[in-house]
Amino acid sequence: MGQVMWKAVERSLGPGFSRDKCEVKLVGTPLTHQRFLRRNRGTYGPAIEAGKDSFPGHPTPIPQLYCCGDSTFPGIGVPAVAASGAIVANSLVSVSQHSQLLDAVGI
Ligand SMILES: Cc1cc2nc3c(=O)[nH]c(=O)nc-3n(C[C@H](O)[C@H](O)[C@H](O)COP(=O)(O)OP(=O)(O)OC[C@H]3O[C@@H](n4cnc5c(N)ncnc54)[C@H](O)[C@@H]3O)c2cc1C
Repeated sequence: MGQVMWKAVERSLGPGFSRDKCEVKLVGTPLTHQRFLRRNRGTYGPAIEAGKDSFPGHPTPIPQLYCCGDSTFPGIGVPAVAASGAIVANSLVSVSQHSQLLDAVGI
């Protein structure tokens, strides 16, 4: 791990932490993401285009085809990814229709 990263880790964990005490060191890079997570070119998180400051939405140029996942709004993390799926579901079918469907199946 690079010197800059170790300095940041030591600063955030406080004076009791020393890199010499660290027994397991695992470094994640875009290559790691590509190899183990099969992410396109090691990407991670929102696919924000250069020159734009907004998160990508869910529609695609293909009608009725939507994207969800951490490259779309609201971004990284399992809860955010689940929310992106919920946003797409609510784009396709209204909340009241979801409620009716849940009532119909007894949930
Ligand atoms: C080390 C690490 C720790 C993390 N810890 C947390 C945590 O503690 N809490 C948390 O909330 N989030 C955590 N995250 C983030 C979270 O895991 C991700 O944001 C989330 O899993 C992304 O979900 P996703 O469905 O968008 O993508 P992914 O989970 O990456 O799923 C994409 C899937 O598509 C598949 N795929 C790729 N290309 C193709 C293709 N051409 N054809 C078919 N399939 C393909 C991949 O194999 C993969 O299974 C962590 C991430 C990492 C890397």
